[in-house]
Amino acid sequence: MTSATCLTGIRIWDGEELSDADALRFEGERITAVGDARELVAGATEIDCQGATAIPGLIDAHVHMELNPDDRAPPTRSDAGIYPHMRERARSMVEAGITTARDLGGGAWYELRLRDEIASGAIPGPRLICAGQPITCVGGHCHFWGGEAADLAAAEVVLQRQLTHGVDLIKVMASGGVMTRGSRPLAPQFDVETLSGIVEMAHQHGRQVAAHCHGTEAIEFAARARVNSIEHCSWVGPEGWASDYQDTVAALIVEHGAHVSPTVNKGWQRYLDNPTGKILPRLRHAYEHMLAKGVRFIASTDAGIPGVYHKDLPKALPVFAGISRMTNEQTLASATSTSADALGLSGTTGRLKPGLAADVLLVDGNPLEDLTALATPIGVWSRGRSVTPASGVCASP
Ligand SMILES: [Zn+2]
Repeated sequence: MTSATCLTGIRIWDGEELSDADALRFEGERITAVGDARELVAGATEIDCQGATAIPGLIDAHVHMELNPDDRAPPTRSDAGIYPHMRERARSMVEAGITTARDLGGGAWYELRLRDEIASGAIPGPRLICAGQPITCVGGHCHFWGGEAADLAAAEVVLQRQLTHGVDLIKVMASGGVMTRGSRPLAPQFDVETLSGIVEMAHQHGRQVAAHCHGTEAIEFAARARVNSIEHCSWVGPEGWASDYQDTVAALIVEHGAHVSPTVNKGWQRYLDNPTGKILPRLRHAYEHMLAKGVRFIASTDAGIPGVYHKDLPKALPVFAGISRMTNEQTLASATSTSADALGLSGTTGRLKPGLAADVLLVDGNPLEDLTALATPIGVWSRGRSVTPASGVCASP
């Protein structure tokens, strides 16, 4: 049985711009019409949403469903006992309005099982696209997840193992990281030839590549290797975090078509609260220049790392806007339409358009004027299913 739902009296931001329409109709999993309420309500359950704004469900382009944000110790091998917690994290995300997330690494493919359970409708959660075990160098960042490779031939073995398990994309650790003892964020883990070989293999199998990059040299190598997204893009140099932004490397990112997923979580508010510290001006310099060069950002949080909760993308977006100085509309696009385009999901989600999934976040007020409105959703639909009922705030006739 599919019944139609029609949200009326709403302001609609469709993923790119404010629409003239005042109603959104969906049926089953899909949006069927965006238009004039008088024409769309017939035969549908009407939900009157005066004063509210509908936007596409949010996309977090970098999460780790497996990781527990309350665990301060470095992660180790994966343990089957974590699975029920992963389900809880998925539920908390979709209730917060995150209807899609890209998982960029785990050790035992539990997140793929979670992906399939959510897709079947058995449990609530965001649509997941998953990378499985990241390819890393021997002893490299997150080596404990099992993806170590000494050279391109060994990387192919790791990549094939991920394909066998049914991953949606490939993750590669192009630089060292913070969470792994003995690993240095500044240092590249693979040369350009090896990275290019990994990207070619993945693309031959129809899979995108996301590259973890802190140091500037690794960012450059990844851009040259034509990865699809550069994660973190921290511009780490000899002088520390965000100290080594280079215009020529930003130009390479644009020229080779990569998106940048800067993993700005809500905790970065600490930089905004400390304008005389050295990090905020460095970040602003890098973001301002990247934007001027035409770099396309996709919103992400690295949820799962210590203190970064899976449901908090809506609270991270005002911080992302504050640091990058993007407009609210640019920031919202980075978490909806631009992200869907980057992840290969533009035919699925990311916009409020007929034919796409009914992934809808309803907020009180206008997030184009105030992004903090995102933190208190009054309704969420994930593939047409109501997650937190809009009734009680929006009046049903
Ligand atoms: Zn990560």
